[in-house]
Amino acid sequence: MKESLGTTGLILNEPLLWGKGKKGRRAFSLPRRDVETFLLNEDLTGEGPDFPDLSEVDVVRHYTRLSTWNFGVDTGMYPLGSCTMKYNPKTNERQASLPGLAGAHPLLPGSLSQGTLRMMFELERYLSEITGMDAVSLQPAAGAHGEFTGMLLIYAYHKSKGERRSKIIVPDTAHGTNPASATLCGYQSIPVKSNEEGILSPEAVAKVMDEDTAGIMVTNPNTLGLFEENIKEIAEIVHSKGGQVYCDGANMNAVMGIVHMGEIGIDVLHLNLHKTFSTPHGGGGPGCGPVCVRKHLEPFLPVPRVIEENGIYSLSEDIPESIGRLHAFYGNFGVMIKAYSYILSMGANLKKASQLAVLNANYIKEKLKDVFHLPYDRPCMHECVFSDKIQEANKVTTLDMVKRLMDYGFHPPTIYFPLVVHGAIMIEPTETESKEDIDLFIEALKAIALEAKENPDLLHDAPSRCKVKRLDETTAARKPCLAG
Ligand SMILES: *Cc1c(COP(=O)(O)O)cnc(C)c1O
Repeated sequence: MKESLGTTGLILNEPLLWGKGKKGRRAFSLPRRDVETFLLNEDLTGEGPDFPDLSEVDVVRHYTRLSTWNFGVDTGMYPLGSCTMKYNPKTNERQASLPGLAGAHPLLPGSLSQGTLRMMFELERYLSEITGMDAVSLQPAAGAHGEFTGMLLIYAYHKSKGERRSKIIVPDTAHGTNPASATLCGYQSIPVKSNEEGILSPEAVAKVMDEDTAGIMVTNPNTLGLFEENIKEIAEIVHSKGGQVYCDGANMNAVMGIVHMGEIGIDVLHLNLHKTFSTPHGGGGPGCGPVCVRKHLEPFLPVPRVIEENGIYSLSEDIPESIGRLHAFYGNFGVMIKAYSYILSMGANLKKASQLAVLNANYIKEKLKDVFHLPYDRPCMHECVFSDKIQEANKVTTLDMVKRLMDYGFHPPTIYFPLVVHGAIMIEPTETESKEDIDLFIEALKAIALEAKENPDLLHDAPSRCKVKRLDETTAARKPCLAG
């Protein structure tokens, strides 16, 4: 194997700033005072807070060292399945931080917010175009929030017809948030098993679809990275009983500008701008999960909505059938600007980005299927899912293998998800990785597969080159030790 990316080099230990401080040390000095001392407030004369005394270089090194402990898409490949951890062009961050946009106050009157309102209006139009849906609301702040909004829309739709349905069909290859969102909206989720090809069969849906079922929630591409090929037929079955079809479109990175969601029978779809459209996912920062709907659901979209009349943009609350407000003001505007900038700078290349994401995932699948068990051996979309079946014989688990991957300089992929695959290893390379980097990743996994056979103990003790070894994850979550 070529030289590994992983290293044991200069990863420095670092105490808390309190551990580094030394009385009397300073970061800068002020000129000698040439006026009398004047006390502004009695309260300020007492003991100050216990801040450590530090020099400038102490502070700079402290934070710079801590920053080297991070691993992110700016450091290396981050093949986390179901998360789309792709590199996002820095220009989009730059646009979002332009003072006029970053400083725009949501309480400014419409006359002073024409630019920002127009950007939101246009972003909704672009997302409609990319997905093939009729109308969009940018308000939901996350994917799961978008799902919940979608459920409320479906509920409002049935209510407008004087109906109250109680169930939602959720296949076992849907994202875990789907049944949670349906339940939060008061629906009972009805599980359906995918077939031996890893997708839903129309017969399975027909069996459970009835007039008390509000609709179906399909993740497409699904969590096995497979396209639900029968979706059109499934949508017809659901529609024929008066139900609605919800598509979890968080995996849009595989199908941007390729699949016309309206045409395949989707009534409501959510996107994750913080995955597909240039905001990194997984940082816990603000997100945006727009909901896209067909015409018949538009009257129920949340308020306020951005509208345009004679070239003037405004926010309208005058939408009588709306499900109401879901977020303060209008959602997370910074994420929207990045998506707007990304879409404009990519143009028709968005489609190419999806094609490359799919190509990269299939390349990895083909290169690794000799050494890892591939439960569904068919063309995948943006991610591929292996299992640890082959390595199990040597008592090596998925966890052992991905811990070892860190020694080779890669962030581990998603593991043990989706649940339908035992010991799942779910890899999503995204379109932004070069062939050279993907080859290095493949070589690392092949080397690990060999180690699993020849030296399993090496994997049981992995990682060996990282700053921290195996953590007790339960205790780490329950009793966090913030002092490092
Ligand atoms: C990430 C993801 C979600 C949830 O999105 P959040 O923004 O984390 O709430 C839902 N469905 C799928 C398929 C996803 O990949």
